[in-house]
Amino acid sequence: MSARTNIADEEDWSDLDESSMIKIDGGIDEHDETSGLELKNNKSNKDFQKSEQQVNGSSTKILSTKRGVCKQAPPPLIQFCRSRYLCVTDITQQLWCEQQLQYRMMGVEPGLTDMQEIEAGDVPLSVKDKEEVKKGKSLHYARELETHDVVDVKISSNTDKWALNILNLLVAMRGFFSGIAKAREVPIFGDLGTGDMLFGIIDELHFDEKTYSLHLLELKTRKSTRLPGVAQAKQNALQVQIYKRLWDNLVKGNMSADFFLKKLCLEDSADLPLSDEIIKHMDQLPMSTVSLRNLFSLLLSTAQSLVCIGSMSIEYVHQDTHDLIGHVEVKEEEDWMWQTVLHSLEFWHGQRECEGVEVEEAWKCGMCEYGNICEWRRKKISSHIQK
Ligand code: SF4
Repeated sequence: MSARTNIADEEDWSDLDESSMIKIDGGIDEHDETSGLELKNNKSNKDFQKSEQQVNGSSTKILSTKRGVCKQAPPPLIQFCRSRYLCVTDITQQLWCEQQLQYRMMGVEPGLTDMQEIEAGDVPLSVKDKEEVKKGKSLHYARELETHDVVDVKISSNTDKWALNILNLLVAMRGFFSGIAKAREVPIFGDLGTGDMLFGIIDELHFDEKTYSLHLLELKTRKSTRLPGVAQAKQNALQVQIYKRLWDNLVKGNMSADFFLKKLCLEDSADLPLSDEIIKHMDQLPMSTVSLRNLFSLLLSTAQSLVCIGSMSIEYVHQDTHDLIGHVEVKEEEDWMWQTVLHSLEFWHGQRECEGVEVEEAWKCGMCEYGNICEWRRKKISSHIQK
C-alpha cells in the first residue's frame, strides 16, 4: 500500500520530450517564509520594474516601483521554493536551460511578445505539454498499481505531508525485508553534501535478495520512437545519479533529524503527535508514540540495514504504444555530477546570474516557447552580430 497526499507532488513531470519540459511546484508550507516577500507582490503588481545591481560581489536583483520603493529580491531558492528545498527535476531542467526554467518559475506566459505576469503558482502549460504530461503520468500510475494499492490521504499540514513521504519510503524499504523485490514511486530526499535539501521520486527500485543488491530504474515516456539526443540523455543521467546519491546518503546515515527538521522548518511540530489521518496508515510500524521525529528515526535505522544502489538504468517507452524504445545503463560520473550540481546551486543561492544556453546549443532556442522574449538569446544574437 502506498499513501498518496491530496496535495500535488513536486515530481514527477520529467518524462517529457526535449521541447516540453515544465516546472511544477506544489505542496503546502505552514512556515512559508517568503510570505510577504517581494516576488509575490511583484507577480500581481505591474508597477514594478526590474533592474539589476551587483551587491557584495553577488548579483542581487533590485525591484523598484514607480513610487520609488526599492527592495532586494531574495535568491531564487527563497523566491521560488517556499519550502526551501529543491526538486531533483529543478536541477535537471537547469541543465537544459536555466533561463527557460526561470521564466517558467516566474510564471511568464509562453509565446508572449513581452513580459506578462500571471497569478503566482499558476505556471502555464501549453496544450501539447499537458497532453504529454498526462500520458506520462498515466503510464507511471498504471505501473505503480502493479506493485501496490494507492490510497488517498487527506492532509492538512506540512508535517503530515513529510510524514507521508517518510511513510511511503519506509513501506518500500520494509517491503524489501519481507521478500518484495520491486518498489515503485519511492520518495527520496536529503542532502548531497552541500547543505541543501533535495527531494525526488524514484520510479523503480529492484532488490535482489540473493545478491543483496539494489538496482534503480527510471522510466521515461517519449513521443518519439527514438532514444533521446545527447542533451536530454544527460539530464536523465544526472537525475538518476542524484537519486542514487540521496539514497546512498540515507543508507550511510549521512542525514540527521536536526538537518531534516530545520531545513523544512518543522522543528516546532517534530515531537507532536501526527494527525489521525496519518496514524491510521502506520499500524504496521513498530512505534507507540507517533511523531515526525520518531518516524524519521525509524527511517534512518531502517535505511542503514539496506544497501547502496549498485546499478542504474533508464527505460524509454513510447507514450502511445507503450512499446520499449530502449534500455540504457547509467554509469556513475561523480566529478561531472558534482560540478553540475554545484554550478546549479550557485544560481539558487543568488551567487550568479541566470544563464541561458551557449551558442553550441542554440538549437534549443528554436524549440523554446520563450524564444521571442528571451533576453539571454537577444544578447547572444547581438554580441554575435557585433563580432
Ligand atoms: S530562448 Fe534559448 S536561452 Fe532563452 S529560454 Fe529559451 S532555450 Fe533558453
